[in-house]
Amino acid sequence: MTVRLHDTMAGTVRDFVPLEPGHVRVYTCGPTVYGAAHIGNFRTIISSDLLVRYLRYRGYRVTWVMNVTDIDDKIIKRAREEGISVVELAARYEGQFLADLDRLGIARPDVMPRATQHIPQMVEQISKLLAGGHAYRTEDGSIFFSIASWPAYGRLARLDPEGLRVTGRVEADEYGKDDVRDFALWKGPVEGEPSWETAIGPGRPGWHIECSAMSTHYLGQPFDIHTGGVDLIFPHHEDEIAQSEAATGKTFVANWFHCGFLQMGGQKMAKSLGNIASVGELMNRGISSRALRLALMSAHYRTPLSFGDDSLTAAGSAIDRLDALMSALTAYRSDCPDDGSLPALLDAARSAFETALDDDLNISPALAAIFDLIRELNRRIDARVLSTADAGRAIAFMRDLDRVLAIAPTADDGLQPELQKLLDERASARAGKDWAASDRLRVALGERGILVEDTRDGQRWRRAE
Ligand code: AMP
Ligand code: ZN
Repeated sequence: MTVRLHDTMAGTVRDFVPLEPGHVRVYTCGPTVYGAAHIGNFRTIISSDLLVRYLRYRGYRVTWVMNVTDIDDKIIKRAREEGISVVELAARYEGQFLADLDRLGIARPDVMPRATQHIPQMVEQISKLLAGGHAYRTEDGSIFFSIASWPAYGRLARLDPEGLRVTGRVEADEYGKDDVRDFALWKGPVEGEPSWETAIGPGRPGWHIECSAMSTHYLGQPFDIHTGGVDLIFPHHEDEIAQSEAATGKTFVANWFHCGFLQMGGQKMAKSLGNIASVGELMNRGISSRALRLALMSAHYRTPLSFGDDSLTAAGSAIDRLDALMSALTAYRSDCPDDGSLPALLDAARSAFETALDDDLNISPALAAIFDLIRELNRRIDARVLSTADAGRAIAFMRDLDRVLAIAPTADDGLQPELQKLLDERASARAGKDWAASDRLRVALGERGILVEDTRDGQRWRRAE
């Protein structure tokens, strides 16, 4: 089977064929680091992470690049308000963003280029656009892309060919444009704002050129998959295409992958609407990061996903079921022979999981395959028809699929020696029928975040979230 993906440009789901056999190059529009990212931003990134993880699971080598926008109007404004430098502000929120990525189990991209460290690449691309007649200068030292010079503009967003329906927002620092639709490639210097001395003059880059320059610098042109939220289709991605294709004459991207909105209270989660939640806030409320990841991943990436306490509760109990199974399998001991029907059960689960994800990352049936398997394995544990080796096979199987989902508890080998010592002491106390000591040790472990449960396979532990 091949992986099939929806491509926004084609408007259909198609077989995915990498441009270079065996290697997939993916670019994701990353954060503008002027404040804490909200979980709507992370829904889009988790969808990209799922894509990257699944392609890797399918045997592809994936190079994943996600930029960090560390210079823009919002960053400059916020730094001024807080009385700190732009560099300091951007570093603070980049750090917070990376911590959230880790908490949500999002694989670290292979490269996370910062805009301010790629000014020469942007300048080179702008120079080509100037030389090719696709860009022009204005009196304040800014440089604009000329939409009139690029008839293919609007294909991704399916804009009216005449461009008449485009409503341009005229920003304060974008005066002097030939056409209201034209967008800034370069912003002329402004007193008191960061500026670079370059071959095209002093100033700073526009937002769109950052992604064009950094994606093709690391991934070449064309590259395979460009991801982002649906709100980036226009104008951001449309502008990226125009810049990159007009500068080189080559196709920019082979497949466009866009994630639907996370909604809260029936509306898009957005800073401007105030209906936002951050990873940190939810963690402080005691929500487990794995439950949050699952909640953000639980609907097809192209459909809107409404977020609320119900979805968190459902995800939390799903994670509890997974954790309970993993700890039951870890503790399981039996002398009975291998269960002859286990391989077929696991094969069927794998095949259902892959069939679903091959189909444009159809997550719901993939998760159903896992949770049906959990139920079936629990049944076999209760009936004690698995061998000890079978339990090991089931754990390895779950961990293998978890390379894609990243929701399973971390492997038990991470237990600190002092906690292991308490567990060992408790096991000996129980063996010696010293129930008082056993209870005392259970409480001591509980205070350290380790929940202990006694089963016929001996004590079983898991981390409290
Ligand atoms: P922004 O900070 O608005 O530039 O957004 C950063 C990324 O998050 C972009 O890919 C957006 O499309 C995406 N994004 C913003 N809000 C949401 C939302 N409510 N749901 C899903 N993705 C979002
Ligand atoms: Zn971008």
